[in-house]
Amino acid sequence: MDYQQLIEEVYQEVQEENLKGKVADYIPEIATVDPNQFGIALVDIKGNVFGVGDHQKPFSIQSISKVHTLTMVFNFFNSKLWTRVNVEPSGDPFNSIAQLEYEKGIPRNPFINAGALVITDALCSKFEKPIEQVSAFINELAGETCVMVNNDVKNSEMDHGERNTALAYFLKSFKNFNNPIDQVLEVYFSHCAMEMSCVDLAKSFSFLANDGYSIFADRQVLTESQSRRVNALMLTCGFYDEAGEFAYKVGLPGKSGVGGGVAAVMPHKFSIAVWSPELNEKGNSVKAIRALELLTDKLSFSLF
Ligand code: GLN
Repeated sequence: MDYQQLIEEVYQEVQEENLKGKVADYIPEIATVDPNQFGIALVDIKGNVFGVGDHQKPFSIQSISKVHTLTMVFNFFNSKLWTRVNVEPSGDPFNSIAQLEYEKGIPRNPFINAGALVITDALCSKFEKPIEQVSAFINELAGETCVMVNNDVKNSEMDHGERNTALAYFLKSFKNFNNPIDQVLEVYFSHCAMEMSCVDLAKSFSFLANDGYSIFADRQVLTESQSRRVNALMLTCGFYDEAGEFAYKVGLPGKSGVGGGVAAVMPHKFSIAVWSPELNEKGNSVKAIRALELLTDKLSFSLF
């Protein structure tokens, strides 16, 4: 399989379709990015890197960072984590508060905001300098220093963070929150405001294509069984209320962010990151999803 030719073909075809969406504007600082950017990077299981378009340009990874933070706490808490967060798809938008009340403060999964806040709370319980340690962890997975926290994006989200703040208080009312709310929110907004390129993002997901072993970090990051479980969660919950459609069209475990990025994994073959800022009404990148659909259609193998 010539991956470079494959992603170039996909890139061209998507560009010709001239798809349109809307850049996330509820984080004002993100609304200022050039909407026409588009990049794809693929990293095969041996660590070879292929790229096209704006694949080397750093962008705001937003909710994709929830996979990195989940990985960090999964290592510490293992299955005990699932007493605080469930592993069911929600069918609701990423920032929904609706299910939290009747599910008694146990979020449906670690990728909706409520679940990710519990994960960040657990992170704050175990790590003394969580923001630095998340950055260091992602740098290690990518095999180079590549992560930068964009403080303008972080502050912009903090200034408009009413919904996430409400979720945190709600979780606390159910005693599913152990650290000071302000501290956890700052760590959450900081890891969402991390910037990196498609190349580095795809490298940082490589261990999930490789049964938990990162060739860039040269170590077993998760056990094989944990790695499979993170992939199962991405397949069922990685795109919120569009998870079913993504599984149907693309058929890969993946995670999106409102910065327009999507990172996905073809186990035992490759990891891939696609970025384009314009989003559909579910908050997922229009071009990135289309690119992955075309790409998996063209492959001679699949997850299934
Ligand atoms: N930081 C964003 C938020 O909490 C992340 C959302 C996303 O990328 N889906 O709203």
